[in-house]
Amino acid sequence: MEEDLSSLRSRALKIVKILKRTYPRERHVSGDPYRTLIKCIISQRNRDEVTDRVAEELFKRYPTIEDIARASVEEMQEFLRSLKVGLWRSKGRWIVESSRIILEKYGGRVPDKFEELIKLPGIGRKCANIVLAYGFGIPAIPVDTHVNRISKRLGLVPKDASPEDVEERLKQLIPKDEWLYVNHAMVDHGKRICRPIKPRCEVCPLKNLCPKVEIRKV
Ligand code: SF4
Repeated sequence: MEEDLSSLRSRALKIVKILKRTYPRERHVSGDPYRTLIKCIISQRNRDEVTDRVAEELFKRYPTIEDIARASVEEMQEFLRSLKVGLWRSKGRWIVESSRIILEKYGGRVPDKFEELIKLPGIGRKCANIVLAYGFGIPAIPVDTHVNRISKRLGLVPKDASPEDVEERLKQLIPKDEWLYVNHAMVDHGKRICRPIKPRCEVCPLKNLCPKVEIRKV
């Protein structure tokens, strides 16, 4: 029998609360929207460890937005290539061009509106939401591979939902004051327990809230 909206909402809230308790983070908001944005560009199709290392190197060499905007696209591409970053050509261009636009059009301040953020080169829905949530602390639900997979396994969204549909559905189910925790909590859960292959259901704190019969089919 299909689960009705109010029961889905109550299950979704229980899930978020358990995940928040299981994976507490000291800090969700970086308070630095520009660095959050640049890191998000670097992170595309990279592991977190690579992203952290590359971002650290990049901000050591180019400490300010002006430094990055002044660099040529070729120089930035070469820099990323030397650090073995995937998609270095596109990312080099996006990093320099986005920085120039933020400087020239927004006076050096990253815009805090979704519609403006997604106009920047290299910034799609996920990165725009990451900048809003973790750069500014504005409620948003970035949907990455972990959020997408886990919310489908948990039966919170249909299996064939697009990332945009996943985001909209989760926003309907989860109260706004919890949105900020959803991505981080599901990322942590997805790395440790609800892994893409062989999820560790036997030790999962959500097992009583998860329609496990579905898990192998996702
Ligand atoms: S019970 Fe299994 S499939 Fe469900 S959330 Fe936990 S690990 Fe993932």
